[in-house]
Amino acid sequence: MALINEHYLKLNDNYLFADIAKKVNAFKVSHPKESVISLGIGDVTQPLCQAVIEAMHRAVDDLAAKETFHGYGPEQGYMFLREAIAKNDFLARGINIEPAEIFVNDGAKSDTGNIGELVRWDNSIGVTDPVYPVYVDSNVMCGRAGSPVDGKWSNVTYIPCLEANGFVPQIPDHRVDIIYLCYPNNPTGTVISRDELRKWVNYALKNDTLIFYDAAYEAYIQSPDIPHSIYEIKGAKKVAVEFHSFSKTAGFTGVRCGYTVVPKELTAASMDGRRRYPLNTMWYRRQCTKSNGVSYVSQRAAEAVYTPEGKRQVREAIDYYMGNAAIMREALAAVGLTVYGGHDAPYLWVKTPGGMDSWKFFERMLYGARVVCTPGVGFGPSGEGFVRLTSFGDRDDCREALRRIAAWLKG
Ligand SMILES: *Cc1c(COP(=O)(O)O)cnc(C)c1O
Repeated sequence: MALINEHYLKLNDNYLFADIAKKVNAFKVSHPKESVISLGIGDVTQPLCQAVIEAMHRAVDDLAAKETFHGYGPEQGYMFLREAIAKNDFLARGINIEPAEIFVNDGAKSDTGNIGELVRWDNSIGVTDPVYPVYVDSNVMCGRAGSPVDGKWSNVTYIPCLEANGFVPQIPDHRVDIIYLCYPNNPTGTVISRDELRKWVNYALKNDTLIFYDAAYEAYIQSPDIPHSIYEIKGAKKVAVEFHSFSKTAGFTGVRCGYTVVPKELTAASMDGRRRYPLNTMWYRRQCTKSNGVSYVSQRAAEAVYTPEGKRQVREAIDYYMGNAAIMREALAAVGLTVYGGHDAPYLWVKTPGGMDSWKFFERMLYGARVVCTPGVGFGPSGEGFVRLTSFGDRDDCREALRRIAAWLKG
């Protein structure tokens, strides 16, 4: 008799985006003539840039000829890509990361979900709240999150990011074994300063805490002094794994490619606390067993992001989205809404007026303005009273959505 992993039964099967889709659908069925604009999408909309497209075509041609055909590649990713990453994403910022510390993957979601395999199921975890749901749910699946109590997990420390604390997560007053941080942040669109990030690294060094740092939106940072990588902070290589993705950087949500950095200096303790083991070796072993790498075409595509043309073209798409964000911030503020984020991230975190709850505002805006947002409470208890808007849409749709929101709020 095969027995199930009962932790799965604890998961909420009402996935946030499925709930939203259901409500939007109900609206469309009862209002068949109305057009609905979504400012809730967490997916890019601009096509791949020319440098990437050309590289992909060349890669396909490679596969078409016997001499240049590629079958299984290295589990860790091709050296051409890992070298380009080490040089452009790290060395260019004065950070020394070796190709052997980089693991190419099919996107950051897989590894942020899978990395927990390297540590015992009974470690305690901490997440900023609101939070990207993958971090919590992947821990629920292996039992590490504990059991649900009043809308929270018993073994999870929630670190509230609230308007009152400027969305700056406060260091816990107790020891937590593993901390997830995501900056620039999804969903709040806020960033972490160098000084604040240093506090986390120092906390981790002092408490022997492991940090899982999700830098998926790093390329959206516009402000000069905001760290792009946790390894910009001294000592971080001893405590942090960092996740990157070409999804938001270069529109690879459909192509699939990202990478995880597991520095050689990063270790964790044995059960009796007497020995330390490098996570790099363990992750390499894990990948060799459970992965056969990422497609050659995707990796050649990712490599092209680092060419001069690739860099320029990728920047254009990001500028387009950040242009949307600037327009949105201004227009929303002009109609009296309080807006956070949108400066260094493609997300705007909008306070609902009059203390309305997230879902009520979502429904009112859907019915009143025919615009879809994402209720903040869907990302965790501290998201209540906020909604998330994204700047990933088309510029014209974006403008039209703002016009509708303004008319609705004035009307
Ligand atoms: C979109 C996103 C990712 C990237 O996911 P991929 O699997 O690389 O497409 C990672 N982390 C966060 C917080 C995200 O929003």
